[in-house]
Amino acid sequence: MSNLANYAVSEHNSKGRLTFESAPQFRSQTQRDRDRVIHSGAFRRLEYKTQVFVNHEGDMFRTRLTHSIEVAQIGRSIARVMKLNEDLVEAICLAHDLGHTPFGHAGQDALNRCMKKYGGFEHNLQSLRVVDQLEERYADFSGLNLTFEAREGILKHCSKVEARKLGELGQRFIQQTQPSLEAQVADLADAIAYNNHDLDDGLRAGLIEMESLREQTLFAMHFDDVSQAWSSLPVRRMIYETIRRMINYQVVDLVETSQANVKKLGPQSIADIRQSERLIKLSGVGYSQHKALKKFLKETLYCHYRVHRMSLKASKIILSLFEVFMDDVRVLPKDVQYRITSETSQENESHQARMIADYIAGMTDRFAISEYEKLFNPLTLT
Ligand code: MG
Repeated sequence: MSNLANYAVSEHNSKGRLTFESAPQFRSQTQRDRDRVIHSGAFRRLEYKTQVFVNHEGDMFRTRLTHSIEVAQIGRSIARVMKLNEDLVEAICLAHDLGHTPFGHAGQDALNRCMKKYGGFEHNLQSLRVVDQLEERYADFSGLNLTFEAREGILKHCSKVEARKLGELGQRFIQQTQPSLEAQVADLADAIAYNNHDLDDGLRAGLIEMESLREQTLFAMHFDDVSQAWSSLPVRRMIYETIRRMINYQVVDLVETSQANVKKLGPQSIADIRQSERLIKLSGVGYSQHKALKKFLKETLYCHYRVHRMSLKASKIILSLFEVFMDDVRVLPKDVQYRITSETSQENESHQARMIADYIAGMTDRFAISEYEKLFNPLTLT
């Protein structure tokens, strides 16, 4: 870590943890953050949560877990070359989706609808809630007691109303300042990872047509190079090689653009980073190619009727579970019931809804399906 830039997050400029802990013996504070994320229950459950394709649709598709690992890989590459805190970037990347519901965005939208009267549901805020409160593994504190900088990176966006409830962590959304460069890297590593792997998964599932994809500049420029150089390769292998090049091209573009931005500003400390505009960026051309691909995926893959059918079923499961749990808390597991009844708040209904949302959000796809089956199929009596 001695090779860090003076504006990177380090032991010297970190704002520390909410509950004080003495320094680890052999690890850095940010390594500890990363390790705590890996040991969390929410992290393990990512294996059985949807990215785009519901977990049981096939073993080759990305899940939230493999997505998070790919994000961390891209994030680390960028952090290292830019002399940023790699362990922190990795911690943020691995934790960024911990708050995701089962069934991907369909699940989040459904839960948000259920929670409309009670303050809504947003996966990004939920990721923070997981690391700040919901993981119950340590004797001294609830949550993982991560450093301020890891928590700041996990909370990518936030409304001003929510930000006001979050103390110092919410300040940047009110004052419109920037998070660390490590947080900025994790944010874009996520965007690069999902664009490329959703394309790969969409092609494998047969939901994206090669003809229309070849109209996408970012894909076409690399695919043409590959198919000219290795015309006899099977198409599947050409696609792998193309996607590998696309990721590399975007990472190089991002690093070159961001390094130039940093050089121009000449920051001396992390305070300079926070006060400046966003420095981790794709170039103008790189960003427009990225946006065009994202739009293409939205129109072809995410709105494909086969994906939409799964989403519709997923929403039904989430809505039904929420409704039945709100109606009769006695069907909930004992620990969830306990969390509901232990609160002596005036807003009992809101509190109950939030506890139920936490419970549902923590479910894996298959657990949610099996809960639905157990609760609604009269022939399943267990
Ligand atoms: Mg993500």
